[in-house]
Amino acid sequence: MIQSYKKKPQLQETYDTIIIGSGMGGLATAAILSKQGQKVLVLERHYTAGGFTHIFKRKGYEWDVGIHYIGEMQRENSLLRKLFEYVTDGELKWADMGEVYDRIIIGEKQYDFVKGVKNFKKQLISYFPQEEETIEAYVNLVFKTVRSSKNFYMSKALPPFLNALFGRFMKKGFYQYSDKTTYEVLRSLTDNEALIKVLTGQYGDYGLPPKQSSFYMHASLVRHYFDGGSFPIGGSSQIVKTIDKVIEASGGTILISAEVDEVYIEKNTAKGVRMKDGSIFRSDKVVSNAGIITTYNKLLPPEIVNKHGLAAHLQKVRPSAAHLSLYIGLEGTPQELQLPKTNYWVYPEKGDHDSCVQNYLDDLSQPFPLVYLSFPSAKDPDWSNRYPGKSTIDIITIIPYEVFEKWSDTSWKKRGEEYDTIKEELAQRLLKVLYKQQPQLNGKVTYYELSTPITTQHFVNYEKGEIYGLDHTPSRFRQSFLKPRTKIKNFYLTGQDVATAGVGGALFSGVLTSMAMTGKNVLKKL
Ligand SMILES: Cc1cc2nc3c(=O)[nH]c(=O)nc-3n(C[C@H](O)[C@H](O)[C@H](O)COP(=O)(O)OP(=O)(O)OC[C@H]3O[C@@H](n4cnc5c(N)ncnc54)[C@H](O)[C@@H]3O)c2cc1C
Repeated sequence: MIQSYKKKPQLQETYDTIIIGSGMGGLATAAILSKQGQKVLVLERHYTAGGFTHIFKRKGYEWDVGIHYIGEMQRENSLLRKLFEYVTDGELKWADMGEVYDRIIIGEKQYDFVKGVKNFKKQLISYFPQEEETIEAYVNLVFKTVRSSKNFYMSKALPPFLNALFGRFMKKGFYQYSDKTTYEVLRSLTDNEALIKVLTGQYGDYGLPPKQSSFYMHASLVRHYFDGGSFPIGGSSQIVKTIDKVIEASGGTILISAEVDEVYIEKNTAKGVRMKDGSIFRSDKVVSNAGIITTYNKLLPPEIVNKHGLAAHLQKVRPSAAHLSLYIGLEGTPQELQLPKTNYWVYPEKGDHDSCVQNYLDDLSQPFPLVYLSFPSAKDPDWSNRYPGKSTIDIITIIPYEVFEKWSDTSWKKRGEEYDTIKEELAQRLLKVLYKQQPQLNGKVTYYELSTPITTQHFVNYEKGEIYGLDHTPSRFRQSFLKPRTKIKNFYLTGQDVATAGVGGALFSGVLTSMAMTGKNVLKKL
């Protein structure tokens, strides 16, 4: 049954804008439009709001699903920080993760990524003293690449006639970086494979190893964290809580358990949405935050998809990797358990990242190509007020969707013995990695629960359980349809597929979508 996110909804006959999905992109679009006086209805199919920023609670613990750290929040003049302040009315507060935000662990060696560009470089040079020039050149290139993306993004929000005039020119500088793979660019700087493996030690943040990912995506991610990592005080749920107030202040509402069946289109113009229960909500404009694959395959009427040849668009992109998340509960405070705030990225000693991924895909009993350990309860200074005497840990790795595909039609928590057995084996393998890195935790875990790609499909409606929407290959950045405006009048896209994966990317997509819808550039206000 459709419910309000907070209390009994004051539903209207019609809205200025309806947004399908309450992910960061949908919420940001909603907040910006609300601040411009629009009445916005956000429809979320899950029983809780926030998309990947949602939290869930079980057995007296709480876990964040898709937020482990966010960059640029500790830098006063950062645009992302100002944007967060704008959409949350300054209510969302961030806790600094401290000096070391990421630790890259390769076999028995470890490499710390230290907050602040100077410190970052110094630390890396201490590990690779012969490579000082390479490291300097690399950091400069990262900055240059990110700078080149500004016009690329702005072109996405331009009206078609301006885009036709200036679009090509605006994107030109960007493509020289985005067209190359991360490995190609790094190999042009050095032939030191050990250094390349360390520099790309955060590839899990965008889901593709260096020989497949676009260098732009890599540079953007690395730059994002140069000033350290931050965690929302009070947990990820604070994002939707703070933005909800902004939406409500303009008469808008977030509804949960509210699954949209189809966008309601007349004469190639969006007029509202039809819900799974058959009811209709009308609006002047409709925005989909459900991801482009879900939007085209499930939410648009097939005749519209055919009319505009949208299926051909989907042939040009592919879903990102799927993942496993192990949610762990422990007795004891983060201090008692000596949990770090730093994220650990654990990699096999031998081989480059691409070959480790390939070995594992060929034979899943091979070592995980990447294991990410995150300690959210240690990052949140408010955690122990809410959950005294407890702690949590999340462990993430990649896994092909196909391993679990045959259970996609089964019901949550009732998928059968074979499914549970595979999950248990994988959970034990992940716990082993944790105990190797944090031996003091052996015997302290009181609860764990593994999510699979089917879980992601079930809760967030990504068809192949994809972790980051579309894959961040070089060709992805060449696809001109990955922008807010669509061929359907008054129908727009937002979310990570419009910009890039990451809460920052999704937030920024909200800026672009609102700009394309209203012609107002919210960045000027900031
Ligand atoms: C495990 C994991 C860890 C991550 N860690 C980080 C991190 O540490 N830092 C970081 O910056 N980013 C991280 N990310 C990435 C980040 O969370 C996402 O890129 C971002 O939140 C995506 O936002 P979005 O706006 O695209 O929407 P999404 O969060 O994808 O939300 C889309 C919403 O649409 C809803 N929807 C779909 N279909 C319908 C329908 N028919 N009707 C109504 N609603 C519908 C879905 O239920 C969902 O709520 C992580 C992601 C994952 C999965």
